Amino acid sequence: MHRLGMGVILALILALPASAYEPDWEPRDFSTSVTTKVLMLGTGNPVPYPHRSGTSIAVIVNEIPYVFDAGDGAFHAMGREMPYFGKSRVKGFTLTNDAANTLFITHLHSDHTLGVPAFLLGGWTLGGTRAKQVYGPPGTGELVEGILQAYRRDIDYRVYSPTQKNDTGWRAQAHEISEEGLAYEDENVKVYAFRACHGLWPFPISYRLESPDRVVTISGDTTADCDGLKRAAEGTDILLIEGITHKGPEKNLDVWPQRTKISVAQQKALMHSTTEEIAALANQVKPKILVTYHEQNFTTNPNQMEEELRQFGWRGKYISSRDGDIF
Ligand SMILES: [Zn+2]
Ligand SMILES: [Zn+2]
Repeated sequence: MHRLGMGVILALILALPASAYEPDWEPRDFSTSVTTKVLMLGTGNPVPYPHRSGTSIAVIVNEIPYVFDAGDGAFHAMGREMPYFGKSRVKGFTLTNDAANTLFITHLHSDHTLGVPAFLLGGWTLGGTRAKQVYGPPGTGELVEGILQAYRRDIDYRVYSPTQKNDTGWRAQAHEISEEGLAYEDENVKVYAFRACHGLWPFPISYRLESPDRVVTISGDTTADCDGLKRAAEGTDILLIEGITHKGPEKNLDVWPQRTKISVAQQKALMHSTTEEIAALANQVKPKILVTYHEQNFTTNPNQMEEELRQFGWRGKYISSRDGDIF
């Protein structure tokens, strides 16, 4: 009798979905290289999905992370791979060192930069000593300066109070990029900037990172029918691209920016990559794997993005990414 009761309860529990918000959100590991790994720190868009942090992607080469965009939650998302928390699918994040020192910003929309304060100061409060290097479009200097100004009292407190934090780890240097070409180089990687196409931003950036064994392209926000992005993605191994479905919106109408003067059609034409454009671009540059992030799928079908990409003719490998996925 008792055993039967337990069985019924167990069956009921198993029948419940794993998550009330987004089933199957467990991160996956698709990587095949030991040297170069891409970790999706945040795959979200401006809508606050419970299992998606703001946009942020770390490319880790020889255990050194290079971070692209820092949306809300990016710094805490690094904890996912810290040995302290029991996971270390990619190495390069620890609690005792700066978690990451080099950040590349694609453009200054807040959904890509709300996590910059945490990126600049979070590692330092845990003992990091190295000044951060921030690369990005014109205006990046103002952003970094303004953040440090806003946190001045906290910085002073930590340096001069008995906590005596070091006086170097909070510092940051901005490097503004206003033309295409090699933006950064060290013994590990070369990072090139290309002019993306994202509304009225004067120099939104798509990045192309070349490591010893991989080429990784990060679109940033852009239409996919964009000359700069095409060149950034030529012959790439991994094309990470934002995406918006043709269909929709048909759900979450409360979060779609209803009061905006820019219509959905204009958003698609001027600001973001439609599935039709993405499929055309992918068929032209032929990445080994096509990955979407910062997806805007406001339909009721969770597979809408993939179904449209297939319908528009992309037959190659494709993953709709989740937070914590590794490529
Ligand atoms: Zn944007
Ligand atoms: Zn965005």
